[in-house]
Amino acid sequence: MKLQFTITPTAEEETLQEAAEGQVPLYDLVIIGGGPAGLTAAIYAGRARLETLVLAGPLPGGQPANTEMVENFPGFPDGISGPELAQHFRSQAGRFGAEVVLDNVTEVDFSARPFTIHTYGATYQAQAVIVATGAVPRRLGVPGGDEFFGRGVSVCATCDGFFYRGKRVVVVGGGDSAIAEGLFLTKFADEVIIVHRRDELRATKIYQERAFANPKIRFVWDSVVEEILGEQTVTGVRVRNVKTGETSVIETDGVFVYVGMAPGTHIFAGQIELDAAGYIVTDRRQRTSRPGVFAAGDVQDPHYRQVVIAAGSGAIAAMEADRFLAEETHPAQARPSA
Ligand code: NAP
Repeated sequence: MKLQFTITPTAEEETLQEAAEGQVPLYDLVIIGGGPAGLTAAIYAGRARLETLVLAGPLPGGQPANTEMVENFPGFPDGISGPELAQHFRSQAGRFGAEVVLDNVTEVDFSARPFTIHTYGATYQAQAVIVATGAVPRRLGVPGGDEFFGRGVSVCATCDGFFYRGKRVVVVGGGDSAIAEGLFLTKFADEVIIVHRRDELRATKIYQERAFANPKIRFVWDSVVEEILGEQTVTGVRVRNVKTGETSVIETDGVFVYVGMAPGTHIFAGQIELDAAGYIVTDRRQRTSRPGVFAAGDVQDPHYRQVVIAAGSGAIAAMEADRFLAEETHPAQARPSA
């Protein structure tokens, strides 16, 4: 009797085999993320004539795509709607030749070049990579927070505000997002109650002035949400005053949570250096701990997190990726670093 063994190749062996057969597309540069940093990097990379692929996730545009109005991006004196700005970024990137694919990256291998990037639908290889996966809104982490997510608990007023016409909503947080989105919600809701854990807002002064002047907005200071209440949908929140310890229930139809952002880096752990909070560590030239891998935007910026800064860091990352690749192929002609 003959014994037969079937050896199943590993994902890595499969990729090598497919690459050898020319089935895995190889790009000069793959940009992971389709927000302001990623798409600005794509504009610069396209103009540098790098063969560039942007893996933009299913909903490109990054945080501006979920923001009603961006008032502080230079060049738009009257402000511009966030989705419109995101669309401009995307068409400008396309104009200079970057290919944009709406797919999520599931796994990367940066251990050897060309780097390998797996998405839900495909595998790609790249001589250089820019990670620009941004940051995602943090959840509240209280009972009811996850259970009612999408059934009265939201992190996107632009997406869900419309459902609260004539109703009362609670907004949690005291930063720019909470106040800007709270103001936006007054277009729909009859009353917007902002619950903040201190008696002072972190938000930019211009937002504070607008919120204090808005008759539909009421503040509940020094208070944290301890539980989200409801049955099929949200009916209220239990809040505790952190100074007095008193608890009370605020009846509400919806809760919008704006308690900060967390970097989208879980797939990069072990591949490039992350700091204790999970942000990618970069130097001033947007280089990560892995030569050939750069990072830009909120994924490596715990401090500023502004569209203009994300775009600027995306431009730097693309210029540095171009320089990195040029140094390998034509060392004498590589652009000197700044
Ligand atoms: P943020 O600035 O980090 O503010 C988070 C807020 O949530 C703070 O007020 C914080 O309270 C509160 N908070 C944190 N953890 C909490 C918890 N567990 N329970 C209750 N409250 C909690 O986040 P953000 O407002 O999302 O803004 C993120 C970045 O985007 C910032 O750099 C912001 O400037 C920027 N942004 C800018 C604009 C703009 O138009 N320019 C708009 C939106 C966002 P404490 O204040 O007590 O820490």
